[in-house]
Amino acid sequence: MPETRDSIVIGAGIIGAATALGLARKGRKPLVIDRLPAAGYGSTGGSCAIIRPYYSTVDGSAIAYESHFYWKDWEKFLGAADERGLARYVDCGCLVMKTQGNGMLAHALELMAAIGAPAENLDQAGLLAKLPIVDTRCFGPAKRPEDEGFGEPTVGEIQGAVFFPTGGYITDPQLATHNLQRAAEANGAEFRFNCEVTEIRRAGGRVAGVTLADGTVIDAPVVVNIAGPHSAKVNAMAGVEQGMRIKTRALRHEVAHVPSPEGFDFEHDGMVCSDNDVSTYCRPEMGNYVLIGSEDPECDEREWVDPDDFDRNFSEQWRVMVMRLAQRYPGLGIPNQTKGVVELYDVSDDWIPIYDTSDLPGFYMGVGTSGNQFKNAPIAGEMMAELIEACEAGRDHDKDPVTFRLKHIGREVSIGFYSRLREVNPESSFSVLG
Ligand SMILES: Cc1cc2nc3c(=O)[nH]c(=O)nc-3n(C[C@H](O)[C@H](O)[C@H](O)COP(=O)(O)OP(=O)(O)OC[C@H]3O[C@@H](n4cnc5c(N)ncnc54)[C@H](O)[C@@H]3O)c2cc1C
Repeated sequence: MPETRDSIVIGAGIIGAATALGLARKGRKPLVIDRLPAAGYGSTGGSCAIIRPYYSTVDGSAIAYESHFYWKDWEKFLGAADERGLARYVDCGCLVMKTQGNGMLAHALELMAAIGAPAENLDQAGLLAKLPIVDTRCFGPAKRPEDEGFGEPTVGEIQGAVFFPTGGYITDPQLATHNLQRAAEANGAEFRFNCEVTEIRRAGGRVAGVTLADGTVIDAPVVVNIAGPHSAKVNAMAGVEQGMRIKTRALRHEVAHVPSPEGFDFEHDGMVCSDNDVSTYCRPEMGNYVLIGSEDPECDEREWVDPDDFDRNFSEQWRVMVMRLAQRYPGLGIPNQTKGVVELYDVSDDWIPIYDTSDLPGFYMGVGTSGNQFKNAPIAGEMMAELIEACEAGRDHDKDPVTFRLKHIGREVSIGFYSRLREVNPESSFSVLG
């Protein structure tokens, strides 16, 4: 007799573990299956884990702002102990440069006003008071090192920035995932590692369960694809891709860790910074380091890859990102030794995730997190559980979308915003900014 479960979650990353917790709190006993040896060892482990409220859409911003309150009171949200300790939220705030390219952040300020999130509109003196190491000259649009004028100032100066106090970063994204695993287990979930799902089985017009690489068959009426950069492969196994207007694919990304600029304690006096003039973002990293990521300027080629076959070594991109940020922080050195992360984003066509059901009854997906959903994981887990229970009770979410209440900020969102059937959202930044 095959093993039988009431639900299976494929993937023990931050979104999978949060969904398991959400389902367990609704009374299920989900089995979470991951091909890796522990929770958070996939793309979550390489996450910059930045928490920030600004997105390009009002729903995206509202959910991201709401997430701040979950992380702020992480222990209470989890309601369960972890022998490894709890992940730490450093809420140092986020500073975003005002540039012509981002419309001097007028839209972001409107969105923050609409959702009631605090935002301090700073002039250049205010920006320098927050971060005195900044060189305010403009360098954009971003160039490649081989282009003429790379690293040389262009026209004008950065006139100011917006500071978002309800943001920062989680020091250890893997530990945060382990925290969720322990909380889910305390509520009846089970995690199984080193097991790869190779088949999604159907019977009687709905999902029937999964088969593992070693031939083990597990039956379940509910199967949830939260396979991160492997999401398209798992959707292909389920045969649901043709019923999706929005698709996903894996994008390779590098993150650099370099020592703080000479004479400045970025770990304690720095903050999350996003700078579209030099097309980088950064945040403090332990050991008085600066963690640097790319905002994907048009001059850089995007590396779409097979998640089972990509180069985990640093490339020229590592040095390019550091050189770009060094334009803004002139004291930043460019070390010879590369340190940081090479990982994959699971990118949807409009860089907005898909939290949805599918054309195969009982098969659900939390995918396409596009390099920007770590922060939202606790809410994504609750939304997925709400959606699954509603659909299993007979609701047609495609026609009558389930709504979700953001309890801390007192707002309701439609989970239909994340539908696989949506048209590409033209309001998106079509970048990691979401
Ligand atoms: C470099 C980088 C920086 C980022 N920075 C930020 C940030 O600053 N802020 C933010 O909010 N977000 C950020 N993100 C995005 C965020 O980290 C992701 O959205 C999130 O971690 C995705 O979690 P997940 O659980 O969906 O996927 P994953 O963590 O990738 O988990 C998926 C799991 O599924 C497993 N799996 C896949 N296929 C199978 C199979 N067939 N059988 C069994 N198991 C399988 C994998 O082993 C994996 O463990 C970043 C992402 C990256 C890569």
